[in-house]
Amino acid sequence: MPSSLEANDPTISRLIAQETQRQGSKIRLIPSENFVSSAVLEATGSALTNKYSEGYHGKRYYEGQEFIDQIEELAIDRAKDVFGSAHANVQPYSGSPANLAAYLAFCEPGDKIMGMHLPSGGHLTHGWKVSISGKFFNSVQYQVDKETGRIDLDHVREMAMKERPKVLWAGGTAVPRTIDFSAFAEIAKECGALFFADIAHIAGLIAGGAHPTPVGLADVVTTTTHKTLRGPRGGMIMASEEHAKAVDRAVFPGLQGGPHNHTTAALAVALHEAQQDSFKTYAHQIVSNAKALAARLSEHGFELVSGGTDNHLILIDLTNKELPGKVLAKALDRAGIVSNYNSVPYDTRKPFDPSGLRIGTPAVTTQGMGETEMVKIADWMNEVANSVGDEGLQERIAGEVREVCKAFPAPGTSGTCGTSAHTAA
Ligand SMILES: *Cc1c(COP(=O)(O)O)cnc(C)c1O
Repeated sequence: MPSSLEANDPTISRLIAQETQRQGSKIRLIPSENFVSSAVLEATGSALTNKYSEGYHGKRYYEGQEFIDQIEELAIDRAKDVFGSAHANVQPYSGSPANLAAYLAFCEPGDKIMGMHLPSGGHLTHGWKVSISGKFFNSVQYQVDKETGRIDLDHVREMAMKERPKVLWAGGTAVPRTIDFSAFAEIAKECGALFFADIAHIAGLIAGGAHPTPVGLADVVTTTTHKTLRGPRGGMIMASEEHAKAVDRAVFPGLQGGPHNHTTAALAVALHEAQQDSFKTYAHQIVSNAKALAARLSEHGFELVSGGTDNHLILIDLTNKELPGKVLAKALDRAGIVSNYNSVPYDTRKPFDPSGLRIGTPAVTTQGMGETEMVKIADWMNEVANSVGDEGLQERIAGEVREVCKAFPAPGTSGTCGTSAHTAA
């Protein structure tokens, strides 16, 4: 019998099935992507999407909240437990709105903010000029060191003392090394800034004990919930008790309307998964896999920004290979390996046609792949890079990739809307 989606909208049904199959038959190395468990998928597709619940527990503007209140409280309690935070707001629609809410809680338009330059690995929302954060605030930005590709804390301190920003950001989207949150906290204190830590990429590593936490050091910690944390697409803000009210008021009524309750429930499920011991294993395996992948890529002559990785992410500078990131990314995709092209620090090419390739290991780790598969992936990447025009080679590798993916089935990708025997706990 066809599902109701197949019967009612065969076109969308087919496209979802095709995308699901694509995810299950390619090696997905985009470091911000993952596979959620079937349990998280199920909660995301639930009737909770029907309910309006503006406000917070005990202060809602609509009736009928007896179950929604319990779901949101569970998500909050689990977030506080997983991250050791005094306060958590689980309503932000995604990472960017979470950051916007953090600004709204503490800043006025025109205030000076200091974040990391986008080509150095910073996020759009940390003051990049095309973003609302760069337009509504007076943004100054630090870069990584040109030689080492790493954050130079002396440079950050010097700049912060000279600029005296209202907000100092740590965190980014293309940072392959451990972020020294306690050093950032000290600098923020010295220059009188609020310290905002954005852990969107590394939240799962922090939850699993594979990266130091900024919780307790930063005034505000923002995150997405769908990257290494392996929950539904969403955002979250953590703060000390002192800042709790300001954060909550900024999210609602400051920035958003009704929370996405289906997402909140799915987040609660993901956080429950993050409370299990298996999540620690997963987080540490992500790092081991990234190190194995990086080491093999280096052997093949790939130049890695900062020389390697401490976390889930590897940034390849292709300048020495005389290959633009886009050209290699497209060739790799034909070979069944999905990555994204990315700026590298001090890139001389444009952000939409940059010199780098950004890869990471969260999704393949969730599938259960280990160091052996990482070596294989690096070898495939090298073969493709050595002859980007060879479509026969790409087809051959795509077939080999499909075989590997069969051996490591991803949760939620075996059926149209996805139930799978393999669930990621
Ligand atoms: C992904 C990311 C965001 C934005 O998250 P969205 O959910 O895409 O809006 C914010 N900050 C950092 C550091 C990120 O990596």
